[in-house]
Amino acid sequence: MTEELASALMKYAHLVGSPINLEWVKSVERVQQEIMSQVRAEARESSDLRELLSQLDSSGKLEAMVRRVAGEIGDEVKDVRKAVAAALAGNAEEEGFRSALLTLQAVARAFAEGREAVAEQSAFCPLCGARSETSFKRGDKYYMVCHFCSYVWLQSSGKPTCPYCGNSSEISIGMFSDRQRRLALMKCWECGSTWRAILDETIRAPAIVLPLIAMGAESFRRAAEEAQG
Ligand SMILES: [Zn+2]
Ligand SMILES: [Zn+2]
Repeated sequence: MTEELASALMKYAHLVGSPINLEWVKSVERVQQEIMSQVRAEARESSDLRELLSQLDSSGKLEAMVRRVAGEIGDEVKDVRKAVAAALAGNAEEEGFRSALLTLQAVARAFAEGREAVAEQSAFCPLCGARSETSFKRGDKYYMVCHFCSYVWLQSSGKPTCPYCGNSSEISIGMFSDRQRRLALMKCWECGSTWRAILDETIRAPAIVLPLIAMGAESFRRAAEEAQG
């Protein structure tokens, strides 16, 4: 069942992070932290997220965790296997979809926790495969942060490069920002991709929150769309 994990997470990670209201965010965070503390030891020993999930599945822990999440968020889950399959396939209409996806995310977060930032010239999370649209800057280094598991990896050094096509020519990468250069919408004129960047290094927050902060860069989208490369 875990085979489709990467592609599913890639496509549907954004469905998890809808910050509709603070109470919802808090209760999700509470139950995810609880799950993370339950799987932390196993997650640290594991070298592969898919393996970790199969392990949790066969020991029955995954089912218990999905039920725990369902209880917390008031979700109806009759068949946990179906719910997990729905989460992996992105069937948001299926019963238990949200509980299963939030559980998978908690496991992925525990897996990502404390892992060193590898260098990976890509917008796809080296750990879970989810597609990131968020970068941040530290010194002359540009990091990407995973929207799903919050893993951080080093995307480029010295200058921003396109995480989608690898374009490293400065003249074909646009940066749309305010005067203070806190947040920016980046645009690659080679492949047409855009991504959000947190340029202000005084902006510090847990990695899981960075993609939400970076959403502020959406205010520059119109400028980016109207500009000619
Ligand atoms: Zn990830
Ligand atoms: Zn590109």
